[in-house]
Amino acid sequence: MRSVTELLAGTALPRAEARRLLAGALGVSIEALIARPEQAVGDEAAARFAELADRRARGEPLAYLLGEREFYGRRFAVSPAVLVPRPETELLVDVALRLLRRRPAPRVLDLGSGCGCIAITLALECPLAAVVAADRSAEALAVARANATQLGAGVELRLSDWYSDVGGRFDLIVANPPYVAAADPHLRELQHEPRHALVAGADGLADLRRIVAGAPVHLNSGGSLAVEHGHDQGASVRELFARAGFVDIETQRDLAGIERVCAGWLLATPV
Ligand code: GLN
Repeated sequence: MRSVTELLAGTALPRAEARRLLAGALGVSIEALIARPEQAVGDEAAARFAELADRRARGEPLAYLLGEREFYGRRFAVSPAVLVPRPETELLVDVALRLLRRRPAPRVLDLGSGCGCIAITLALECPLAAVVAADRSAEALAVARANATQLGAGVELRLSDWYSDVGGRFDLIVANPPYVAAADPHLRELQHEPRHALVAGADGLADLRRIVAGAPVHLNSGGSLAVEHGHDQGASVRELFARAGFVDIETQRDLAGIERVCAGWLLATPV
């Protein structure tokens, strides 16, 4: 039997990733692994680790191999049925929480909720909010349901193709929709994630167009919309918001300084 140190030395993966995979294969915490580098690893766990390390070396996201990813300080289960939560999406949550600040008991809709990280985080950070998480993938909703239960969040889950079955009007709509252009070379690195969660037509704006244009009839007066978008879509998305009747349209930049989240208010709603 080999030790933790020996097994880690035998892989070309970055040390932090190899450690997380080995901890996963052993079913122990990363702290327990680091605390006892001399501990012997059984053959079965070593074989599991070898397989995980091999899949990681071929490009599978670490989050899928571990079955989880941290988002806004909490652990979310993920599977290849959902996009892996990205750090920049925490900005969308920050913007949403700011928009909710002066509302006592808002109704919130998260469109294309995937693993549920946005909807569940909003429900937990804003306990008086009634949050609906909508996705057209039943598999994704199952992942979100498991996360809501695990984290103790009261979120209503709905099988809905964007607005088709969301029900009622909301005070805030949020979405991190697919926004990558079909021919974007960057997709080569994302081939393990669901393409339908990433790609939105030739210019990447197909779903954002539907979401922004459809928002006014699903918002209460004084409601707001906040969406995540691609690195070069800031001006186009502001334009979509303006055309749909939103005011006070603002774009926030992510930690990399890239325009990433657009938000706006709707003063009066169409009937
Ligand atoms: N931010 C993701 C990426 O390009 C795309 C996510 C999305 O389309 N919503 O890595």
